[in-house]
Amino acid sequence: MDTIIAYVTDNEEDNIKIYEQAKSVLRSGGLVAFPTETVYGLGADALTEEAALKIYAAKGRPSDNPLIVHIANVDALYELAEQVDERALKLAEHFWPGPLTMILKKKSIVPDSITGGLDTVAIRMPSHPVARKLIEMAGVYVAAPSANTSGKPSPTRAKHVIHDMQGRIDMIIADDTVDIGVESTIVDISGEIPMILRPGYVTKAQLENVLGEVEIDPAIMGSLAEGVTPKAPGMKYRHYAPEAQLTLVESRNGAEKVVEYINKMTREHQDKGKRIGVMAPKETAGMYVADVVIPVGSRDDEALAARDLYAALREFDECKVDYIYAESVSTKDVGLAVMNRLIKAAGHTIIDVED
Ligand code: AMP
Ligand code: MG
Repeated sequence: MDTIIAYVTDNEEDNIKIYEQAKSVLRSGGLVAFPTETVYGLGADALTEEAALKIYAAKGRPSDNPLIVHIANVDALYELAEQVDERALKLAEHFWPGPLTMILKKKSIVPDSITGGLDTVAIRMPSHPVARKLIEMAGVYVAAPSANTSGKPSPTRAKHVIHDMQGRIDMIIADDTVDIGVESTIVDISGEIPMILRPGYVTKAQLENVLGEVEIDPAIMGSLAEGVTPKAPGMKYRHYAPEAQLTLVESRNGAEKVVEYINKMTREHQDKGKRIGVMAPKETAGMYVADVVIPVGSRDDEALAARDLYAALREFDECKVDYIYAESVSTKDVGLAVMNRLIKAAGHTIIDVED
């Protein structure tokens, strides 16, 4: 399949042509990758089953992993979901458009195949201008998971989408203004107490300000809850993973011991002819002896770490390292989302240097 790659520019007339083309692809049941404020999405008409099913084939995604439906106005909630209560409207008012996905009881017009057979549907109104324009102009609800091959880090740059999807989908809209860098926060409000199923840019504290008590799925930090099945089906798969084995290293007493441990492991591997990659905040990046060191964020800027996380994981693949070590980050705000993705990318291999 030939994939149209269209670059958004400052020329609005040219951009309109891109949206027209994307509209005709979506309306004829095709797939369009597009930027959002979180990561790139891989979109199809959500209410046309055959179209949405192509997403699973293009990504190699397991069929029990449901898709998020993207909308352009709040009224769409009433068409897709049952019981749109006060909580849903409050969340929409405070966080939409933006990086928050709500889980609600679904209406029957939403095909079972896009919800993995669940009786709930995930809905989000993105804020990225390209995503908004695309959904508005296409006039359809857009089912869209992240636009990566299943299991790989989500794409935050056009080149990542092109790498994973060229030849597999109809069109890629390229615009490298994806600035959050990790997927949306998912909050399930289909039950009595709202529950965060996936951490993202919108934090638990922010949700509690609006909703009162909010729980957090204990499976989110993976290894901390061995044997607990996550409530967002997608969270149970190994995910976000680079080719090389990733080890997450943490310490309760500052970075010094982490640096020491990683440098020791690096030398051992290098003696055996292996190449090592290290991901660390800018404060400590200069202290590593690894072959490839990628600074990601800084100690006091979790948002920056989120923005550059996936690009760094993919860069290690390009540099062909054999092992990757990453410093764990603070989990105060969006750092919780970063750690959740890192733990999954590491396949739960976490070393506490204090142990
Ligand atoms: P992605 O867009 O690739 O980040 O994947 C969407 C995420 O939303 C996956 O982790 C899904 O398991 C989760 N999800 C989508 N719909 C539902 C739902 N109805 N209930 C729980 N989780 C959902
Ligand atoms: Mg994904």
